[in-house]
Amino acid sequence: MEDITTRQARERLNGACGAQARDSAWRTVKSFRAVVEERMASAGETRQEAEEVLRAEWDLLPETMFPEVQRRDTPWGNLYGVRVRCERTGGGHTQVREGVILPPPKPHAYQVRIGLTAPTRRHKPGAVLTIDARRWQMTPGPHEVTDPPRYTGRDIPREVLATIPELKSQRLVPARLQPALATVKQASGRKDLYAIADAQAMPASPKAERSAQRRRTCSTCSRTSRQAFPEASDGRFYCPDHHTAAEQRWEHAMHRLGRSVSAIWARQVLEDAASILVVLVSDLEHLSIRIEELDGTVLLAQEMPVADIPSDDDVIFDRVDPETLPRWLHSPAAHCTSGRRILLTTTFGADEDFARLLSLIEGSTRVLWPLRPERRDYLRCRYDVWLGRGRMYDQRHRLGQDYLGGWLPTHPKAGYDPRELVSEMRHRLAVMAKTDLTDDREAFATAWLGTEPDSSWSVDAKSERLSRRTALKSTFLTVFGDDA
Ligand SMILES: [Zn+2]
Repeated sequence: MEDITTRQARERLNGACGAQARDSAWRTVKSFRAVVEERMASAGETRQEAEEVLRAEWDLLPETMFPEVQRRDTPWGNLYGVRVRCERTGGGHTQVREGVILPPPKPHAYQVRIGLTAPTRRHKPGAVLTIDARRWQMTPGPHEVTDPPRYTGRDIPREVLATIPELKSQRLVPARLQPALATVKQASGRKDLYAIADAQAMPASPKAERSAQRRRTCSTCSRTSRQAFPEASDGRFYCPDHHTAAEQRWEHAMHRLGRSVSAIWARQVLEDAASILVVLVSDLEHLSIRIEELDGTVLLAQEMPVADIPSDDDVIFDRVDPETLPRWLHSPAAHCTSGRRILLTTTFGADEDFARLLSLIEGSTRVLWPLRPERRDYLRCRYDVWLGRGRMYDQRHRLGQDYLGGWLPTHPKAGYDPRELVSEMRHRLAVMAKTDLTDDREAFATAWLGTEPDSSWSVDAKSERLSRRTALKSTFLTVFGDDA
């Protein structure tokens, strides 16, 4: 299959082996030539280009494709796998290329390749260029490096080098005799790194075929395409005509689910005797604190001048005498939130101020967060989702920004009335709890609420919740797909 003419090939085959092997080899040669011609005609490639591509695709590479990397054989061998900066000045301007030096495809005295880690004017990161090593000033230079490079997880040039599992995730494997150029330290030990550009496509498996077929077929109209359609939120694939509709269907169903989950959550809060309503608001002058039971019993209603609140530094450096703080801070009522299920409305920073005051009384030099509700109990966010203003989270949007951005907007001029804020909280809980739900939506939303992250850090509990949630998703569109 090297560069020999058709006649030479026929003669060589005639002399070399039995008739059957000869015929089969001959068929391979003929089809190879035919495909080369076809590529030349259709893709406009030269014969050499077409043959090179085909040899790689048909696994017909000569053994010399990846000569064992003899780092000492060429002056630049030390740089294989090393991240370098190459500079060259000429014609009044300086060219710069940043990347990882790769060995040339065939042994060569001064050619090397560079896998780019930074874009150039014409090439993206990951592109591989052959360069004449003599003409570039390299930093580090070949004499400044002695050992094969050892990367740590963070500094690894991911555009150019990858471990075998990483290659596999791109459906690639190292080519025959492809050398490892560097290593990376991972939790499981040192792993070899290979040039991504030199790796080969994995042979297709029936499973991969089926999944590729699924990606190329529209779930609505069954139209197929050569390239995969983008995945929609429901995990299916749609042609451009049906993608938007699928996303909208999902989005609407998510809103209905969000509304149902907020309703179930509000019912559970109202039934929970541990629930407590806390309002902390500060303006330029005062910090106000109001804590009430669900039934309206006032547990604490106080305010103190902002100027009297010690700073974080005062706490850490023990500069405050707790005895100088207001009397009511020492009363059990000020500490009544401990062990309760907190529903909080606060202006930015007021929760921290109150936490700092409490930790001073408790004699702690660490600033506590005693008033942060559990993440699932952010009333403001639940209400936004219920209204359709906030986004319902799914696996990809786990309790995130939506749930943390729960502060009241602060306008220095607009004073908040803590009493009104508490009754607003109570009102919101009540209207959410009253939402009409069909039986199957109620059951679904209750189950979904049970899969939300809680404060438990156990990995088992987390994966168990996620698998329950995945199971729920299979019926999600059946339950919430239509307006009910
Ligand atoms: Zn379609």
